[in-house]
Amino acid sequence: MPTSEADRVPGRLGIRFPVVDPATGEAFDEAPDQQPDELDGVVDRAYGAWRGWRADPAARTAALRVAAGAVEAAGDDLARLLTREQGKPLAESCAEVARTAARLRYFADLAPRTRRIVDGRPVRSEVRWRPLGPVAAIVPWNFPLQLAAAKFAPALAAGNTVVLKPSPFTPLATRLLGSVLAAALPEDVLTVVTGREPLGARLASHPGIRHVTFTGSVSTGRAVAEAAGASLARVTLELGGNDAAVLLDDVDVDRIADRLFWAAFRNCGQVCMAVKRVYAPARLHAEVVEALAHRAKTVTVGAGLDPDTRLGPVSNAPQLARIEQITQHALADGARAAAGGHRLDGPGYFFAPTVLTDVPPGAPVVTGEQFGPVLPVLPYRKLDEAVDAANGTGFGLGGSVWGTDLDRAEAVAERLECGTAWVNHHAELSLAQPFAGVKDSGVGVAGGLWGLYGNLRPFVVHRPQEG
Ligand code: NAD
Repeated sequence: MPTSEADRVPGRLGIRFPVVDPATGEAFDEAPDQQPDELDGVVDRAYGAWRGWRADPAARTAALRVAAGAVEAAGDDLARLLTREQGKPLAESCAEVARTAARLRYFADLAPRTRRIVDGRPVRSEVRWRPLGPVAAIVPWNFPLQLAAAKFAPALAAGNTVVLKPSPFTPLATRLLGSVLAAALPEDVLTVVTGREPLGARLASHPGIRHVTFTGSVSTGRAVAEAAGASLARVTLELGGNDAAVLLDDVDVDRIADRLFWAAFRNCGQVCMAVKRVYAPARLHAEVVEALAHRAKTVTVGAGLDPDTRLGPVSNAPQLARIEQITQHALADGARAAAGGHRLDGPGYFFAPTVLTDVPPGAPVVTGEQFGPVLPVLPYRKLDEAVDAANGTGFGLGGSVWGTDLDRAEAVAERLECGTAWVNHHAELSLAQPFAGVKDSGVGVAGGLWGLYGNLRPFVVHRPQEG
């Protein structure tokens, strides 16, 4: 994101920064570049609003249900703006808006359970749950609305107030979402702030924030944890992934190829839980490469607003440069592009869907997180080698195993060191399930009841059973 003084354009509301359409590479609008010193007032107001919001669970449920309906009613506008600034096909933006509303509705009806501790002593000890206070939600650009809702819906349902900061690459749909929600929620219960760094860093370290819930890269996650440490705020970190798909020797390649392709390439591969490496038995390797490369060569790539588009542009210029560099590195090291391998000519941030073979196992496209439309397919001879390789990076978000014998596939999936392991599909998530990465992929748990409790603290009331 450019941050030079020259980019700072005075606008209607003070300093603003340009927002670029990745399908054209041109700025099409601006967003307020809020300054860190504005956060004191924002957090103070969020604290002030907390008193009323925490007091009445029934009113919260009602307001969150209204909020879900308001998001659906604004669905077309939200989806078009999301596609414009993020690049994804319009149908995917519509699905993202629908999931945003679904999250609000799901958490609206979720409540923590009071528990009695029964341990034989003549006391009545009860565990109740209390909200934490103002929560900072900081999110990336790949699913701006859905990931924001994954944070603010449980935080609000638990009785906290929220200050939400989107990525400066995708501020506009979130600002619109903020104004849609403002009509359904009491004032200052949810505030959207937009701006370039150090806004996020200052928010993470703000002494008035009691929980920092962050989704983004591992390196920024470390900085956020350090910043939150200053005020000992709770942190929940949902970080990068390098998910492996391990194909077993009884896999039916024809049957799974479509699912596997989209598990890697949906949202142009910019999914934390995308398949980022495929391990195929040596005997089937050529067939797997061929099946994936065929799809990569024939999928319709274009602007997200074009109804024929299945794959949009890469979301922003730095990410495109990163993908190009990581791909060229692999090709220079002896990898071969069975499909793609290069940027597409013309305006916008388009990269040809790429399937790589003959990739050295130590190449950054295998060991790191490419986060783009580039997929290495690696052969293995012994299953143990594939499992060791799948587990052999610093990441541990998700993983999958693909085969015909489901019990055997599940037994292999059990061996993956990650938060979620799938059989014969990848990245399918229910609102009710916990979501947690291991190793560098995260700290804390989001999703379902676990996500609600992640925004609460236990409060124990202990008294004699009788006076
Ligand atoms: P990023 O870490 O660069 O930025 C994420 C957010 O943090 C943005 O809002 C950014 O403005 C803000 N930020 C930047 N520096 C900050 C700082 N010092 N303090 C506080 N906030 C700061 O990530 P990105 O490039 O926007 O997103 C891509 C990454 O997000 C990938 O690594 C991807 O795997 C990860 N991700 C993880 C999940 C998950 O659930 N585990 C989901 C989606 C994306």
